[in-house]
Amino acid sequence: MKYVDEYRDPALAKGLAAAIAAEAEAGRTYRFMEFCGGHTHAISRYGVEDMLPANVRMIHGPGCPVCVLPVGRIDDAIRLAARPDVTLCTYADLMRVPASNGASLLKARAAGADIRMVYSTLDALRIARSEPRREVVFFAIGFETTTPPTALAVRQAKAEGCANFSVFCNHVLTPVAMRAILAGEEEGVPPLDGIVGPAHVSTVIGSRPYEFVATEYHKPVVISGFEPLDVMQSILMLVHQLNQNRCEIENQYARAVVPQGNARALEAIAEVFELRDSFEWRGLGAVAKSALRLRDAFAAFDAERRFEIETKAAADNPACECGAILRGAKRPMDCKLFGTLCTPETPMGSCMVSSEGSCAAHYAYGRFRDRARTQKEGVLQ
Ligand code: SF4
Ligand code: SF4
Repeated sequence: MKYVDEYRDPALAKGLAAAIAAEAEAGRTYRFMEFCGGHTHAISRYGVEDMLPANVRMIHGPGCPVCVLPVGRIDDAIRLAARPDVTLCTYADLMRVPASNGASLLKARAAGADIRMVYSTLDALRIARSEPRREVVFFAIGFETTTPPTALAVRQAKAEGCANFSVFCNHVLTPVAMRAILAGEEEGVPPLDGIVGPAHVSTVIGSRPYEFVATEYHKPVVISGFEPLDVMQSILMLVHQLNQNRCEIENQYARAVVPQGNARALEAIAEVFELRDSFEWRGLGAVAKSALRLRDAFAAFDAERRFEIETKAAADNPACECGAILRGAKRPMDCKLFGTLCTPETPMGSCMVSSEGSCAAHYAYGRFRDRARTQKEGVLQ
């Protein structure tokens, strides 16, 4: 497959693994967080961790919008969908995320709520056009990658005068979450040495918004593509920077990311959205200025204002370690429920739902390798 096979070539992977092993200094530990779930998935699927020396360790980050959405917002969506006049449009992954009291959108749909799975914001807009008597609400989630399509759909709905379409907005911001993680590095957990930066998000926002990681936290970031060789090259670049006492924002994914980002996408986001004062994240708690809401000019398309939604805080399942995993403080194998009570078929927490959630990725590809490695080395930190 042109332009994919090249990034999965086993011989090149072995060469990169050897280069990382040669570059990583003995007696020193390198702890890198891959922010995005897409990287977590690639690392687990292609066994990247197995090719790294023992002193280079990957920590899974919070980069999955399914994983970081707090229980209270899922409860809101379920309440919204229970209204007889509402059709709630959502992505498949969200259907199974556990809400309060064992509820989920899937169960709400089985109980009669009109909840439909869509592949894009435009699918929801199409439903609104074809069913003008229904209140069609798009359950919007995602980092900067999925925000421009939502902005375009809202803009389109306004231009058409589509009066029965609205968005329940849960779009969140990557650099702010990164800052929250770096600022809150937990006691007892060794600090991160660097970050494998998001790929898709960076195609929208560019590489500049990460500069604070280098200037304020003195840690390097390498923006990385999602293929295994991309990730391995990024790890090599991070190790190299640290060995040279540098902390810079480097761009391994130069085939798609430019420093200034995508001007048209950023302009659409800025036209439709503004910052929220605060937003609750699963695992990180309330984070100031970390999410978006619709501007007043688009208030008619804002489901929160249209249906007077007031999110109530709701607790996660107390046995679930998703919060600590999303902060990089624990690994899936540290959760007592992993692989026993919590599996992709019976998820107890959000990290087991999306295929890019840390627990789901480990369950699918890494759990046996992890167990062997943990027994050999003790609990990995
Ligand atoms: S679904 Fe994928 S791209 Fe979207 S967040 Fe989860 S991990 Fe990142
Ligand atoms: S195994 Fe399940 S319950 Fe445990 S942290 Fe992962 S998702 Fe949460």
